[in-house]
Amino acid sequence: MTETGTRVVVIGGSAAGMSFAARARRLSETSRIVVLERGHHVSYANCGLPYFVGDEIAESGDLLVQTPEKLRAALNLEIRVRHEVEHIDPVARLVRVRDQVTGQVYEQPYDALMLATGAGSILPPVPGIDLPGVQVLRTIPDAEAMRDRVESGAGHAVVVGAGFIGIEAAEQLRRRGLDVTVVELADQVLPPLDPEMAHSVEDAMHQAGIDVRKGTSLSAIESETDGRLLVTLSDGTVTAAHIVLVAAGVRPDTALAAAAGLSLGERDAVRVDEHLRTSDPAIYAAGDSIEVIDAVTGAPVVVPLAGPANRQGRAAADHLFGRGGQTPPVLGTAVVRAFGICAATTGRSEKSLRSAGIEHHAVHLHPNQHAGYYPGAQAIHLKLLFAPNGRVLGAQATGAEGIDKRIDVLATAIRAGMTVDDLAELELAYAPPFGSAKDAVNMAGFVAQNVLAGDVSFWRGADLEPMPIGTVLLDVRSPAEFAEGHLPQALNIPHTELRENLSRITPDIPLFVYCASGFRSYLATRLLRQSGWPQARSLSGGLRTLAAERPGSW
Ligand code: FAD
Repeated sequence: MTETGTRVVVIGGSAAGMSFAARARRLSETSRIVVLERGHHVSYANCGLPYFVGDEIAESGDLLVQTPEKLRAALNLEIRVRHEVEHIDPVARLVRVRDQVTGQVYEQPYDALMLATGAGSILPPVPGIDLPGVQVLRTIPDAEAMRDRVESGAGHAVVVGAGFIGIEAAEQLRRRGLDVTVVELADQVLPPLDPEMAHSVEDAMHQAGIDVRKGTSLSAIESETDGRLLVTLSDGTVTAAHIVLVAAGVRPDTALAAAAGLSLGERDAVRVDEHLRTSDPAIYAAGDSIEVIDAVTGAPVVVPLAGPANRQGRAAADHLFGRGGQTPPVLGTAVVRAFGICAATTGRSEKSLRSAGIEHHAVHLHPNQHAGYYPGAQAIHLKLLFAPNGRVLGAQATGAEGIDKRIDVLATAIRAGMTVDDLAELELAYAPPFGSAKDAVNMAGFVAQNVLAGDVSFWRGADLEPMPIGTVLLDVRSPAEFAEGHLPQALNIPHTELRENLSRITPDIPLFVYCASGFRSYLATRLLRQSGWPQARSLSGGLRTLAAERPGSW
């Protein structure tokens, strides 16, 4: 549809809607483009809201990427804030709009409609959830309200949900000096990650003084006379808080789409084709409100993230104005800073591969973020998931530095359909302050190649219960490290002394070899497998990973 004077209407003036509107204008100077937004702002940085609460971003005005005035001047967009669309009539091709300031209701016709209504917070259906002081964090007014509470002397906050937003908010509230309790229904923080990878985030939370309650949910909230809220948790504890933030996930906001008879899919998200067209070809949809295709499994999923929303908005405008405009399946690449460390993920987690029944291998490694001899070297805790044919399926990483870079490289690799052989060969920027001649990503490729070549086989925490009969645990660390703590019944032979001590090990028995991080045990395993112990296996990621997988194993 490229004829002169196309009437384009956009519902929702945030990531997806504004990307669509701006791109539409750049492609069509003659269209009339109207953006209807029920909130007070368009083009606001909801991703920055936690940092405004924490005063890392000082002014709420800094969160406004654009204003209606600037958008009119630069792009001739007709932006109407505080205008809520109440109904879509797909037959007459018009929307019914309520001006929330004047109360006036009017109809706005369209030739092409973009539905970019986003998602709404999931509120647990517990008594007191609607009390003043219980809030979500989705808009600038939400963040201003929370910051006001912080600055009026709030002493304790309860954050419900330890996902990305809950953790960012908890970090920022702690930064402002509040005592913070984080309540998470799952038995781990950061549920998109595998549990052993989320463990270091939980550690960092504990170290920062956060009271983390896993496997716990909100039961009820009551008002106290002093203005605080009494929060009852499923573990029976009651805590008084000045702020209760509910960050327990989002669900696609698709009431308008449903009422208009558009096809819905996974979690009632709007079903779209690869050009972002809904079941009505005059209506596009993009962002948190739509169903997307998972890049690894091909299954329909919902991925509420800013990057896909922005790109989908742009692609839909491209399609509307004859430029192809096709969106690829989604990887769900995400990153979060949490109490001094960073955690990131791309592609599928191991738990999701398992539940989808997809055959895979997992390796854990702890390479440094830059050359070990250069001051400040710190470990990256990296997990790589790959298929038996070598295709990369997912990756997760935590650590202080260099996390986003590695996950972005791995996201690119997955998008390109690369294999672990490709990872081993990637030519990445290197100088001592930035990386290593064998970068962490190359190392992940090498380890995975070793698995596929049959040169190494790994054991994991789950293999301890029960261990195969007759298995011997072989600790190949130094005697000093062994003396500081080891797995029960382990035999200690340092890897450097193994060749001369092979006679101490019963021939051809299953061996679970381990060291601190997996490198020395890999060397030992290679030696053992070539010396009469073909069943020798190395502990994936060493004790560092085991400590996260099975806390308290020794
Ligand atoms: P939204 O941004 O939710 O916008 C939808 C808009 O539609 C809203 O402004 C709403 O008011 C409007 N609307 C809805 N219904 C109507 C109606 N009937 N009439 C008129 N207007 C309507 N993602 C990341 O990738 N990285 C991050 O670090 C990150 N941090 C985040 C932090 C916070 C606190 C939040 C809340 C989200 C964060 N996200 C992050 C998620 C990201 O912001 C969303 O994925 C993205 O904004 C989705 O864009 P959208 O346009 O689909 O929806």
